[in-house]
Amino acid sequence: MALVYIAIQRETFGFFLLFLPPNRCRSRINLSYRPLLYMEISFYGAAQNVTGSKHLVQLDNGKRILLDCGLFQGEGRNTREMNETFGFLPKSIDYVILSHAHLDHCGLLPKLVREGYEGKIYCTPPTLELCRLVLADSARIQRSDNPAESELYNEEDAEKTLEQFVTVPYNKNYTIAEGIELLFTDAGHVLGSAAVNLTLISGGETYRVCFSGDIGRFDNRILRPPQPFPQADYIICESTYGDKFHLAVENAEDRLEEIVRETCLERGGKVIIPAFSIGRTQELVYSLNRLAEAGRLGKIKVFVDSPMSVYATEIIKSHRECFIDEMRDYM
Ligand SMILES: [Zn+2]
Repeated sequence: MALVYIAIQRETFGFFLLFLPPNRCRSRINLSYRPLLYMEISFYGAAQNVTGSKHLVQLDNGKRILLDCGLFQGEGRNTREMNETFGFLPKSIDYVILSHAHLDHCGLLPKLVREGYEGKIYCTPPTLELCRLVLADSARIQRSDNPAESELYNEEDAEKTLEQFVTVPYNKNYTIAEGIELLFTDAGHVLGSAAVNLTLISGGETYRVCFSGDIGRFDNRILRPPQPFPQADYIICESTYGDKFHLAVENAEDRLEEIVRETCLERGGKVIIPAFSIGRTQELVYSLNRLAEAGRLGKIKVFVDSPMSVYATEIIKSHRECFIDEMRDYM
């Protein structure tokens, strides 16, 4: 997730954008632009790149809230180094709030715990279920890709991390501590994904901060669309596809049919589709199934070659309450 930070100036309601400085992975914006604004937000990932989501909110009483603790991915030879240090002390964090279970948002939580974070990790109930899968898998990959002395964390760290999770349902105001109120609203991105809405008291003033997490599409075939979130004074918003128009889902399904028919039926070939295990795989299988049921694909066999995707599908299927009506009827 890359982000754009949007702030609405409190006194005048003027609107301005702060574009992050061209630092590869760490950016820091001090919100104390007037003496009475005693709150600071610092960015330690997903700034000028799209992974490693980590944003630190500090209040005047010294309490530090970490929003997401994601792994950097796909940065070539820099990736390892970027994941080795947080840029802050894990022990100095008081609370962690997690937007969703994708690795670039939760993948460094076991390292945070390994290095001394003992506090709670707040997320929605489905996010916890998916994190069990994702963090255990990530720990196994750490073990197979690295000698023990240089792994970022191991399976034991991942298990210990899960014990620190506390689940909070969507649309329920939850008091984390005095002056720190949390409300998750549905972000419609993957199962359990949430925008993190905080009401914070700092320096005697109340600040409403919204961290959007990754935002889903309004025409998702399985999940509910993103829910409007309450008014905020400060919005930390993802902007990964901010400069692009997506194909409408109907068109995407036609395009999928075209590719499969041309490759498999006309040329006798195979289509191999790399897909994220959580979210994208299930959408693809659903679309292929719909096309097959409508007789638009001929006799094509579909294989999902990923145990993790299969487990994720089981978790997703058990949360029909997060589906759109059409999907619920279909099942
Ligand atoms: Zn995501």
